[in-house]
Amino acid sequence: MGNRRRLPMPPMKGDEPCTTNYGFFPETYAPHNPEVVAAEAMCRSCPLVRACFIWALANPSLTADGIWGATTPWQRKELRKRLLHRLGARALVHTLRAEYAKAVARPDSPGIRRQA
Ligand code: SF4
Repeated sequence: MGNRRRLPMPPMKGDEPCTTNYGFFPETYAPHNPEVVAAEAMCRSCPLVRACFIWALANPSLTADGIWGATTPWQRKELRKRLLHRLGARALVHTLRAEYAKAVARPDSPGIRRQA
């Protein structure tokens, strides 16, 4: 997102699912790949899921691979494209920064999210 200062990584404690499980960097991101489904589900149980998702959305060069915040690279790419089209680059950066600050200040309770 331009050359503006990057958002810092979410404040991980080291016990997040991606730090103790495999499958967050699968060979393929096909939607029904069990590794992808499992990694996305683990993200949804993570207190940092919102912050992680926003961080990944704001840092495409750092997140071209991997499941981050319960999303695949393709999902983030598509969403970023839509948001850029809708908001423009400046407003998108501002919005992501504001939402990131909220998500970091109030992490989710582990396990409250359910698959849509
Ligand atoms: S939401 Fe982010 S920090 Fe949490 S398990 Fe998923 S990739 Fe790891």
